[in-house]
Amino acid sequence: MNIDEIMAYNEQFLQQRPLPIIGYAPRKHMAVVTCMDCRLVQMFEQALGLERGDVLELRTSGATISEAERTDAANDLIRSLAGGIYLLGVREVAIIGHTQCGLAHADPTALTASMQALGVDPEQLIKQEGLGDTQGLMRWLGAFDDVHVNVREVVNVIRSSSYLPKIPVHGLVIDITTGKLELVDRGA
Ligand SMILES: [Zn+2]
Repeated sequence: MNIDEIMAYNEQFLQQRPLPIIGYAPRKHMAVVTCMDCRLVQMFEQALGLERGDVLELRTSGATISEAERTDAANDLIRSLAGGIYLLGVREVAIIGHTQCGLAHADPTALTASMQALGVDPEQLIKQEGLGDTQGLMRWLGAFDDVHVNVREVVNVIRSSSYLPKIPVHGLVIDITTGKLELVDRGA
């Protein structure tokens, strides 16, 4: 398994690269929220010019908040931002979706087939969790049609959360193939 390879690499890493001691508060006083897409690994930080210790980096599937969790805006992402803002000095937030996001092209048939193949009955889950139908399952997953619309929506959820203070919240989209950033909604 990959974990064995990772553990072996880590032994070498510890011998070769002593890490400097740095503080836990982000020195740019910023939190960035992006997707879990594997193509963003390393490229994301390089495209934004971010070094270790610069920002809090939060990743959720699609850089989004599931529709069901938007109403009270008290979900895990909001919780993490609250910790960053109140305890770690964050004063600016950027939501960064990306082109070719898997959640913008999620196929309900592929999803339910994959669940079945892995021993999870989608119909039973939909019934048990009161999701209504396959579209409800897709909404729970956070599927969306347009990355720009999704970024604007997530920005608005964060701006209007009663758990968070009024600080600039920006919305951006990063091109997954070039790393080019597009500022969709500039916070004030
Ligand atoms: Zn994505």
